[in-house]
Amino acid sequence: MTEPRKTVALIAHDNKKAEMLAFVQANKETLARYYLVATGTTGKLLADHTGLEVNRMLSGPVGGDAQIAAQVAEGRVEAVFFFIDPLSKHPHDPDINMLLRLCNVHDVPLATNASTAAFVISPKAL
Ligand code: PGA
Repeated sequence: MTEPRKTVALIAHDNKKAEMLAFVQANKETLARYYLVATGTTGKLLADHTGLEVNRMLSGPVGGDAQIAAQVAEGRVEAVFFFIDPLSKHPHDPDINMLLRLCNVHDVPLATNASTAAFVISPKAL
């Protein structure tokens, strides 16, 4: 029996979607080994432009972050790449904070900007 692929979650706020796409394109071979989940709009962008299979949750503002947070709580997520826009207000801040909190509760690797994401996926000496 083949081992189920481990899950990696990908989320980007609107002003960070271009950075997320560049990150995924640059690390496509690595990410292709994982079961990818993403919030709705991020997932569509990534699937359309990279050809990767991305399992889309709801869009973030209507519950996608909460869906991914639940998977983190259930121990089903290996790492979360969540490119946050710190300069905009978000109607779903409670859901965002829940996801960040649950990553910390369950000690799940969490990259909230492009530099950290690059380091997590391909560690180099600082
Ligand atoms: P989106 O959600 O990928 O549907 O834009 C991201 C977010 O705002 O959390």
